[in-house]
Amino acid sequence: MARYLKEKYDVIICGAGPAGLYAANCLQKASADPISVLLVDKKSPWKEPVACAEAVSRKIFSRYWTPKEEWVRGHLDGVYFTSPDMTRVEYFQADCGLILNRAAFHHEMADKAAELGVECHFEDTVEKLSRAKNGHWKLKIRSGKEESELETRVVIDATGPGAKITRHVPGLEALETGDFDQEAAVFAIATGIPHSRRHIELLFGERYFAGGYGWVFPRDGETVNVGLVGGRKFLKTHPPRSTLEKFIREAYPDAKILAFHGGAIPCGQSEHPTAAYGVFKAGDSASTVNPISRSGIVEALKSGKIAAECALQWLSASSEEERREIENSAYTRWMKIQGKTHLNYHRGKDGFASVSDEQFNKAAHRLASIPVHKRSIFRIFWAVLSSSPSILWKMKSFFI
Ligand SMILES: Cc1cc2nc3c(=O)[nH]c(=O)nc-3n(C[C@H](O)[C@H](O)[C@H](O)COP(=O)(O)OP(=O)(O)OC[C@H]3O[C@@H](n4cnc5c(N)ncnc54)[C@H](O)[C@@H]3O)c2cc1C
Repeated sequence: MARYLKEKYDVIICGAGPAGLYAANCLQKASADPISVLLVDKKSPWKEPVACAEAVSRKIFSRYWTPKEEWVRGHLDGVYFTSPDMTRVEYFQADCGLILNRAAFHHEMADKAAELGVECHFEDTVEKLSRAKNGHWKLKIRSGKEESELETRVVIDATGPGAKITRHVPGLEALETGDFDQEAAVFAIATGIPHSRRHIELLFGERYFAGGYGWVFPRDGETVNVGLVGGRKFLKTHPPRSTLEKFIREAYPDAKILAFHGGAIPCGQSEHPTAAYGVFKAGDSASTVNPISRSGIVEALKSGKIAAECALQWLSASSEEERREIENSAYTRWMKIQGKTHLNYHRGKDGFASVSDEQFNKAAHRLASIPVHKRSIFRIFWAVLSSSPSILWKMKSFFI
């Protein structure tokens, strides 16, 4: 019996992370006429570990998917910003964030997509994308030893960082490659690290986190996710895993490391198109991560929605001209809701990376003297930036 229900689909979504899973749900919910949608991923989306610290803004995340206690590890009331001399500055905002159990969240999204009529195949790898003579797309998909060739009118590429399936494909050369300003991030699941269950902690300093930051995120009261993302230049001479290990040993002598994980994060907003000839990119594969916070979950949901809506318009378009317009609109829509801000953040990234330990410490000491309820995120950033006029100049893209 054939592995797939059809040989030709209207839409094939490659990758079942938040971008692909959300696109699958949006497609089936929004389409007026029944369409055939196939979702494939080389692994089951609920397979642990998911290489992520799993923190999201509760308010923004909830606009896209209703959080459920079954897959929320914890609720957050704020952030501790910790300067290189370990001065902690608390930013408090009740119920501002969530720590997800992403594997379980993915499971719910995949179940919902299947309920809505999306054909889901996990543990299937897309090996090759090529253009068919009729202008549709052909996908070579491998499942164990079995190889299948399927046809589709639209492809949503949500395969995460790096242009795994679109690179070197004729017609798609101009597309964003999903590895713009790619940085390495590593984390350990550890016990024995003092932390607050209701806060995430972000740490700064040239010794371990130059160009990026470190983090301690709560999980279950016992274990934490402790990690770092560093500037590319710094991590070239400071291998991420051993740098993290050194930091943990020094800062938390009682810590017990249970496991190490890591992944790549494309940390820049590019100005390349994200769609062409019926191929739409979403999430990390379209470099949608926030260049400063390096968060990408909510961004993946937002861009998955745009990809799904554009795909539906594309399927009902009546001319090639209209299709090209829809493809261009995928990028302009993203730029309007988020990309323009990311572009400014990315331009200011070098300035932020040049804040010295002394300036961070000075800002932290100044902030520590302000009552907690008067510390806004803007005030915190302002204190860091205004610790040196030269940084303000470098960071002007945040403001203009
Ligand atoms: C260490 C680390 C910590 C992070 N912490 C946070 C955080 O706390 N908060 C936050 O918001 N963001 C965080 N991020 C970023 C966030 O994880 C990503 O931005 C987000 O996962 C992007 O979702 P996506 O759907 O675009 O891609 P992914 O989640 O990467 O999903 C891509 C999917 O495509 C599949 N795939 C790839 N190639 C193929 C193929 N050829 N065939 C079939 N399937 C394929 C993969 O198996 C994968 O399931 C972190 C990232 C890292 C690396």
